[in-house]
Amino acid sequence: MMKALVYHGPGQRGWDTVDDPTIIDRTDIVVRIDTSTICGSDLHILNGDVPETTPGTVLGHEAVGTVQEIGSSVSTLAVGDRVLMSCISSCGRCRFCKEARYGQCLDGGWIFGHLIDGLQAEYARVPFAENSVYKIPEQLSDEQVLFLADILPTAYEVGVLNGKVSPGDVVVVVGAGPIGLAAMLTASLYTPGRIVAIDLADSRLESARLFGADATINNGREDALAQIMELTDGMGADVAFEAVGVPATFELATELIRPGGRVANIGVHGHSATLHLEKLWTRDITITTGLVDTRTIPQLMSIVASGRLDPTVFATHHVPLEDTMSAYDTFADATNTGALKVVLNGTESDRSSQALVGATSAG
Ligand SMILES: [Zn+2]
Ligand SMILES: [Zn+2]
Repeated sequence: MMKALVYHGPGQRGWDTVDDPTIIDRTDIVVRIDTSTICGSDLHILNGDVPETTPGTVLGHEAVGTVQEIGSSVSTLAVGDRVLMSCISSCGRCRFCKEARYGQCLDGGWIFGHLIDGLQAEYARVPFAENSVYKIPEQLSDEQVLFLADILPTAYEVGVLNGKVSPGDVVVVVGAGPIGLAAMLTASLYTPGRIVAIDLADSRLESARLFGADATINNGREDALAQIMELTDGMGADVAFEAVGVPATFELATELIRPGGRVANIGVHGHSATLHLEKLWTRDITITTGLVDTRTIPQLMSIVASGRLDPTVFATHHVPLEDTMSAYDTFADATNTGALKVVLNGTESDRSSQALVGATSAG
């Protein structure tokens, strides 16, 4: 038996004793979870916004672990390998996987902690393992790669790459939560001319400065559209990322873009938003949507290894895995706790993370 964070229906979760995961399919592996984290989508599930997740499911889809057992057809992974689990599982064989659109995989996609048991646990079963996990270079700590499971590739693929950020661009990021901040961090790899962050909370705008924003606008107090026009000589932004997921911020993103510009939607939307085609039809703009494929994990991992990208800045809090229940409270109350990502350290978590547990108390 092992411990895991189990969803018990809207608003209810427990740190429960459950059966150990086992190999079911030949392509599975079982991993010991060394380091894990909590995501905004876990809170969506707990809010009852994700009805397909059934009570009894272990939550979590971002983790680093050590291979304990391998299925009979797994040949590229071995017991003892240290691996990053992607939030996206990929069968490697369906039409979408053949196009590297792993997020759309017909048998996989986002299934961890959603449709199958997830990764906020002592152990986990990982399906389609050879196509879905990434071996971690020895010199990188768990925490240096942990956020490559989801938020960094999401911001990079769905934001920066879909938005075709180019050197010199004015990039406006609407929403400075973890995903918006990850978009600023990865947009910086392309030497934009200027990154502007828009948010309602001054605390998040302060974080935005640390993550690469050159200018910040509080659109609770200021007219964001007028400010962007002033910053761009009345032209508008080259690229806008929507990183909130509400109708008003999507509409703002389409308003502040220059003719020929790109709006990349990253936010998770629960309601319909108005597309103002009566204004936009002449403006040559491109709007993209997407679910992360995590196909850029190897690329991002090598950028981290080169020292040009430091994802550890997201780790505001460190909590032992067995305190996952309180870690949820800390993460959900981000306005007061300042939490960006809460790192859950298993007992076998690597030494650099362990050292950090002692070094940082409550962020
Ligand atoms: Zn996530
Ligand atoms: Zn597939």
